[in-house]
Amino acid sequence: MTDGYDDTPFLPGGKWRIHDRDRPVPPIVSPGSFSSQESQGSPPDDAVVLFDGSNLDAWVSVRGGTAGWKLVAGNSMETVRGTGDIRTKREFGSCQLHLEWKAPTAISASGQGRGNSGVFLLGLYEVQILDNFENPTYADGLAGAIYGQFPPLVNACLPPGVWQTFDIVFETPEYESGHLKNPATMTLFHNGVVAHLRQSMQGPTKHRALADYQTAHGPKGPIVLQDHGDPVQFRNIWIRELAAMQAE
Ligand code: MG
Repeated sequence: MTDGYDDTPFLPGGKWRIHDRDRPVPPIVSPGSFSSQESQGSPPDDAVVLFDGSNLDAWVSVRGGTAGWKLVAGNSMETVRGTGDIRTKREFGSCQLHLEWKAPTAISASGQGRGNSGVFLLGLYEVQILDNFENPTYADGLAGAIYGQFPPLVNACLPPGVWQTFDIVFETPEYESGHLKNPATMTLFHNGVVAHLRQSMQGPTKHRALADYQTAHGPKGPIVLQDHGDPVQFRNIWIRELAAMQAE
């Protein structure tokens, strides 16, 4: 390599010089493409595809057995009321997660009863999915909320029947000898708008109760999608694991 220098000051830490010619360069990733309302985009080429519309093979019911949700038009799947939450067979730790969801156009309720679902990181930490387009509810239950803890910074909801995106960066909590060392954090873009910025979370999600980290859990867990009884649709779900992905 001809570019770079070997006579510049060392950066803090002393491992690499400024513009160091020997510093490893990052891997090349082909970044895929964005979705439109009409068609789903493609994931980065190093992503694990969790759902691309062809089947539910990556998913099972949290109750055990096959996932009871159904494939629908538009490379999508839809919650089937009463079949229960679904989870990925694989488990993941710190990650970048992309998913797209669409609230039902048939409106029969308000507040938490309209297009309710959710996505759980590690199967424990819920980001709320809800139709909050001209549908008020309590702040920490809005779409994009870290449910029961932190409202989203903005309400970036699109109308029901329109595809919406969540891009999540999640960091698992760290425990040391069973005690919390670092809490879980969440960064969320809702439809491209920052809704959480490395928000420290208070513990695994609870309903009408304080979250805490009293019970240590493992560094990995499944991605879970919630059956809250509403026919919410999903498409184009992919994940990139971030463990050990720190710049050299
Ligand atoms: Mg929910």
